[in-house]
Amino acid sequence: METNWYEGGLRLIEEVTTNAEQIQDELLSEILTRNAGTEYLRRFLHGQTDKQLFKKNVPVVTYEDLKPYIDRIANGERSDVLLAEPITGFLMSSGTSGGQPKLTPDIAEVANKWQLFRTLYESPVMKHFGDINQGDKRMEFLFARPEIETPSGLTATSVSTSVYKKSGFKAMLRKFHTSPVEAIFCPEPEQSLYCQLLFGLIQRDEVILVGSAFASTVLRAIKFLENHWQELCSDIKAGLISHRITDSGCRSAASLIMKPNPQLADMIQNICKSKSWEGIIRKLWPKANYVRCVCTGVMSHYTEELEFYCRGLPLVSAAYASSEAQYGINLNPLCKPADASYTFLPNMAYFEFLPVKNDHDESIEMRSNDNEDTESVDLVNVKPGHRYELLVTTSTGLYRYKVGDVLMVTGFHNNAPQFQFVERQNVAISVDQEKTSEADLFKAVTEAKALLDPLGFVLTEYTSYADTSSAPGHYVLFWELKQKEGNHCKELDPKIMVECCYRLEESLHYTYKIYRKKNIIAPLEIRVVKQGTFDALMDHYVSKGASLSQYKRPSCIKSKEALKILDSRVMGKFFSPKSPL
Ligand code: AMP
Repeated sequence: METNWYEGGLRLIEEVTTNAEQIQDELLSEILTRNAGTEYLRRFLHGQTDKQLFKKNVPVVTYEDLKPYIDRIANGERSDVLLAEPITGFLMSSGTSGGQPKLTPDIAEVANKWQLFRTLYESPVMKHFGDINQGDKRMEFLFARPEIETPSGLTATSVSTSVYKKSGFKAMLRKFHTSPVEAIFCPEPEQSLYCQLLFGLIQRDEVILVGSAFASTVLRAIKFLENHWQELCSDIKAGLISHRITDSGCRSAASLIMKPNPQLADMIQNICKSKSWEGIIRKLWPKANYVRCVCTGVMSHYTEELEFYCRGLPLVSAAYASSEAQYGINLNPLCKPADASYTFLPNMAYFEFLPVKNDHDESIEMRSNDNEDTESVDLVNVKPGHRYELLVTTSTGLYRYKVGDVLMVTGFHNNAPQFQFVERQNVAISVDQEKTSEADLFKAVTEAKALLDPLGFVLTEYTSYADTSSAPGHYVLFWELKQKEGNHCKELDPKIMVECCYRLEESLHYTYKIYRKKNIIAPLEIRVVKQGTFDALMDHYVSKGASLSQYKRPSCIKSKEALKILDSRVMGKFFSPKSPL
């Protein structure tokens, strides 16, 4: 007999990771048997379902390859051009990390998979921090986004929104979450956030977990609180939500729980008015055991700042998934955010891995031979220390589909591999033949930003842009800086900024440095932008339809509109003084 629900989850994790190979083969066979008659698979398999034939004949594809099929379905053709199951709508990716939002078919089974995945990624976390008890609440910042109707009358929505819409989830929200459903579905992100913070503060003594899908959203919430705590406190004191909240859903939800509480307002005010906000999360929500949000990949940049606000509360990166499918869970939730590895769950989708050769790493280049470069590897056959690009085959019409993520194997749990997230593929910045990846950039930025430390500045946000408006082209880094607490009004030293440009160049890869020396690439530039610029960038993407829950800062700017937002807020430009050695 299980005493806690998560023990069942833990047992299932053991079972599926032990029988990884068999489960993967069965899953593929099931997907192929169901979908062999679709127009797409018939082209390659002629009705057959053999695994080897699948690997030989079905091409590895990107979203662009499948888009014509998906567009046909969105325009009203039968969905069996791609998948056998009747579709209920489309799921939409955020489109912020890799470019354009992508639509993938949604079927009834998807919601069950997400529910199972949630159970499985929460189980190891519960094992460490304990079950959620009656009266405990989670303060998770959740944001639904408006649905889009396709020409065929089907709706497209984000994965998170489709999960929030399920009646089971709504019931759980009411019971175990501080945020009211009305605020989660509020179409105005700022009003939604205000209302979610208000509810979180009112119920502060019940909160055992603070979180959101991604670290950047938790940080955004804390910074928003920094600017609005006085208004929130006066609402709590008066028992009335501020007039700036015009959304009727938020107002009526607030009217149900708010009553004047000057004592609570004073308590919160005393905490918030303290000079230092170090550990503010712990102080405001004293029963919180941990902060849960993805802190890996592009989110690694936010860890340091978030740790400052958490001080002592563990940051837990629990899961790795995307709009297309669910992948892995963190079995060691107490590990440092930078060390998080995700154990792949063989019952979620059929996985294959394309070996990745790192352009700038000679040792890896020498290790990989031609065969390995082209053939995909099965889940159970990946090798520790090696990097791979993830391919996924699902029952939603994705066959050998490139997710666009590069992962590195760190070990195995039973027979299922564990991966660290390395980077998004194809978000490289490049002005000539060289390619600088998300991870290359992160490494160089980490080196360069250390120079700001003695000046009392921290780099809160960055992104890059390949400026080819003049020849030769050059790299531009947009940096948003903030003064460290207790550091007042020190000017940015241009000499140090120029030094940062040089340090960035020095820390980039060999090919970049050679190109710089030969003047194929012009000196790197840092454009320092005003505080709040990256919030404006996020607002821009959200206004275009990205869900705040799934938003990820782009590592490289490709859109003209986004560039305009950044350029219009530049306060200073600095260039590298010489080519790196
Ligand atoms: P979306 O489909 O818009 O939610 O974006 C999914 C993408 O977010 C993935 O393909 C990854 O690039 C990124 N992502 C999701 N979970 C993680 C994670 N745990 N660590 C790093 N990146 C992640």
